[in-house]
Amino acid sequence: MGPFLFAGSLARRRRHRAVCSCRGFALVLPLPLRRPKAYSMTEQRKAVALISGGLDSMLAARLILEQGIHVEGINFFTGFCVEGHTHAIRNHHRQKPKRNNALWVAEELGIKLHIIDVIEEYKDIVISPKHGYGANLNPCLDCKAFMVGKASAWMGQNDFDFIITGEVIGQRPKSQRRDTMPLVARESGAFDRLLRPLCAKLLPPTLPEREGWVQREKLLGLNGRNRKPQIRLAARFGIDDYAQPAGGCCFLTDRSYANKLSDFWQARGDKSYELDDIMLLKVGRHLRPRAHFKLIVGRDEGENNFLSGYRRQYPHLYPTSHKGALVLLTGKANSDDLQLAARLTARFSQGRDAARVSIAVCDADGHQQTLTVRPLTPNEIPPHWYL
Ligand code: SF4
Repeated sequence: MGPFLFAGSLARRRRHRAVCSCRGFALVLPLPLRRPKAYSMTEQRKAVALISGGLDSMLAARLILEQGIHVEGINFFTGFCVEGHTHAIRNHHRQKPKRNNALWVAEELGIKLHIIDVIEEYKDIVISPKHGYGANLNPCLDCKAFMVGKASAWMGQNDFDFIITGEVIGQRPKSQRRDTMPLVARESGAFDRLLRPLCAKLLPPTLPEREGWVQREKLLGLNGRNRKPQIRLAARFGIDDYAQPAGGCCFLTDRSYANKLSDFWQARGDKSYELDDIMLLKVGRHLRPRAHFKLIVGRDEGENNFLSGYRRQYPHLYPTSHKGALVLLTGKANSDDLQLAARLTARFSQGRDAARVSIAVCDADGHQQTLTVRPLTPNEIPPHWYL
C-alpha cells in the first residue's frame, strides 16, 4: 500500500498532523489488560475517536472535545472505503471537491488523525463474518467489533483512556441496535471504555461517565433513523458542510457492488480477494458474457484512464477505428470469446452503428492483434450479462 495523500490545506494549516500507519504492524496489545496508569485528579483524559468521515462520528468527537477531553481520530482503510477512490475518477464527479472526508473532518475538528491500513486483517471479516451479512455483503456487526477492537489495541499502546464512536441506537438495523451495542463492546475487548456520545443516555453509564471524565448529562440520547437531530446539532456547532450519509461508509452496503463481489467469488471458486480485485469492482460497467470471462468497460475518460493502469495485468481491448471504451478482460478467453469481447467493445464505442469497427486486442505481455468486427446490437446483449 502506498503512502496516503493528505489534502494540501492540511499541510498549510498545520493545525494537526495526520499519520499513516501502514499495515498497522504495531497494533498488537489487547485491552483492557493494559497497564493501569496513575493519573492526578487534574490530568487531561484522552479519547480516540473512530472517524469515518461522516457526520455522526464528527459530532461524537465534537461533543467530547467540548468536555475538555484530548481527542485524536483513527480511520481504518479496508479497501472497501467509499472515500477517495471512484469519487475522484468519474467525469461527472469532477466538479465536486476531491477530498478524503476523514481527513477533512479531522481538520475541521482540529484533531490529529491516524489512518491505519487494515486491508489484510479485514479479509477475514468480509469473507466469513461470525454474525453474517446485512442487506448486502456488509458484515457491519463483525466490522464494528473489529474496528473498535483495533482502536482498543491502539488505545492501550498510546496510553489513551477511552474510545468514542458515532453510533446511534436504531440507526442501522443490523449493527446499531440496543442489543448489539454491548456485543460490540464485549467482542472488541473495549468493554466499558467504549462511549457512544450520541446515544449514551440510553445505555448504561460507561467508565468515562462513572469516573467523571465526561459529564453524562452533556451527552445525548439519540435513537432511530431520523437524521434531523444530527443536522440540528451540526448547525448548533456551526458545521454546515459534511458528507451526506448514503447507506453506509463502504461499498459493501451497495447492492450493485455486492452483486459484483458475489460474481467475482463465484467465478474464482473461493471467497478470497486481493486489493486490486476489490478496487476494480468499483470501476466501470461489468459484463459476464460467459462463465469463464468477464469484461470491465470504462464508462468515461476518467475510468478509461484508471483501467489503463491495469493493462499489464489483464488482456484488454480498445477500438482503433473509432473513439470508445478501454475494456479489461478477466478470466480465460479462447478465440471465439475474443471475437465476442471485440464485438462488445465495438458496441461501447462511437462506432456502435457502423458496419465494421476495428478493435485492438492486447494480452498482458503486450502482444497485439486487430479484429475487425460488427458491433453487437442491444438485442444481442442479454440483460443477465450485466452484473
Ligand atoms: S458500512 Fe462497511 S465500514 Fe461501515 S460498519 Fe458496515 S461493513 Fe463496516
